[in-house]
Amino acid sequence: MHADLHAHTTYSDGSPLPEMCRAAETVGLDAVGFTDHCIVVDDEFGRRERYHLVETYERRREAIERFRPRTDLTVWDAAEVSYVADAEAETADFLDAAGFDYTIGSVHFAGEYDYTTASQYADASEAERRAAVERYFDAVVAAVDSELFDVLGHLDLPERMAALRGHARRSDYERVAAALSDSATVPEINAGRVHGSLGRVHPNPAMLDAFREHGVGFVLGTDSHSPREIERRVPALREVVETHDVPLAEFEPSAAVVR
Ligand SMILES: [Zn+2]
Ligand SMILES: [Zn+2]
Repeated sequence: MHADLHAHTTYSDGSPLPEMCRAAETVGLDAVGFTDHCIVVDDEFGRRERYHLVETYERRREAIERFRPRTDLTVWDAAEVSYVADAEAETADFLDAAGFDYTIGSVHFAGEYDYTTASQYADASEAERRAAVERYFDAVVAAVDSELFDVLGHLDLPERMAALRGHARRSDYERVAAALSDSATVPEINAGRVHGSLGRVHPNPAMLDAFREHGVGFVLGTDSHSPREIERRVPALREVVETHDVPLAEFEPSAAVVR
């Protein structure tokens, strides 16, 4: 693993950019991409978390440019964009104007469902939980089909929550893999909960053969919000890649080839 394509700075809910870069250097990475949360359409997530990279990306870009001479790392100016199905045109316009090195598209919400907090599912029946998860994968397939994003983020996010865990089926992974095989979008192996409640990466390593069958390769992202997370998650990702023989994709942010 030479590049971490998914990390957050103080431009969303992460840590100062120089500290994140130092950690990336410490674990021997050659490149890191900063993918602060970017809420193009003001949804509940954006209001709650005040993620305003839409307004601050130019300032962050200047900060990245000022920092580049101080490091041997390749530092990418990227974004994690919440996919909102009825806002594809606005999202495309914003991303065209912003000109990030690359973008991660993530489903955090779909319809009435919020996949970032578990409170909504406390009293839900099994059928309701399954419906929430199925709706999630509908949105993931739509995000891939939209061709708005370079990378598909944490593609089984509901698994993070105990209330929804285990409701994803093999058929869900298979339809995501089929959509990816017809798309320029590349999925990530995401380590956001590798040491947390989930204790594994996204997507479920047990489902990797579904992606292999479709010739889909992955890029790697720690989804770190602190230097300590980078330092712990990069070795964990390296181990996952080796243990599960993860198929890796060629990926080119700003014309640099990453493996
Ligand atoms: Zn996310
Ligand atoms: Zn993230």
